[in-house]
Amino acid sequence: MKDKLKRFFLDLLFPKTCFGCQKQETYLCQDCEAILEISDIHKRLKIEQLSDLYFALEHKKPLIKTLISQFKYQPFVKELAKPLSSLIINHFKLIEKNRNDFKDFIIIPVPLHIKRLKWRGFNQAEELAKHLSSFFEIPLINNVLIKKHKTLVQTELTGIKREKNVLNAFQCENKEIIKNKNILLIDDIYITGFTIKECARVLKNSGAKKVIGIVVVITEPK
Ligand SMILES: [Zn+2]
Repeated sequence: MKDKLKRFFLDLLFPKTCFGCQKQETYLCQDCEAILEISDIHKRLKIEQLSDLYFALEHKKPLIKTLISQFKYQPFVKELAKPLSSLIINHFKLIEKNRNDFKDFIIIPVPLHIKRLKWRGFNQAEELAKHLSSFFEIPLINNVLIKKHKTLVQTELTGIKREKNVLNAFQCENKEIIKNKNILLIDDIYITGFTIKECARVLKNSGAKKVIGIVVVITEPK
């Protein structure tokens, strides 16, 4: 009930309109999704401890920048998780990957530090992961990978400082859950990749068999 009431007032304050064309009752209409040009190819990207990396699109169009920023920053439109995860799901459909390809995997979102979580009110990677978990029909695990140290915002740093910023920021608890498991590691965006690569390293060191990254968007082709 509390959620419904909150939703009602949010709808009054921020009526649901497409962030691309202002069409009503959706945050991303089909026409604007088509303009985003979801990638219809996949080339294996092995990057350090990541066995592969999937992304729905490249960070070229202003619309995707708007969607990501409205999702992660004010007004924190949590419901954008659905259209953003649909971009990933539609990418998988275009490259003909389906449930069977990941049936022995578990899903883990890149975690937030507790202070960041309190500030935003939700973990954007976990919200995306929930939709992917129901699409692939595999479990979402959020009590293993933990962000123990608060880090600076990666986009405010450059080069080597980004790498140092996330080094040893993550750790695994309840390691038995991921022992010899294949993992889909979810985040919203891949910029330099330091965060997701560091998470993959920690998961592998804690007994995971294979870690594959999935993001909505990458800033440039790797
Ligand atoms: Zn639109």
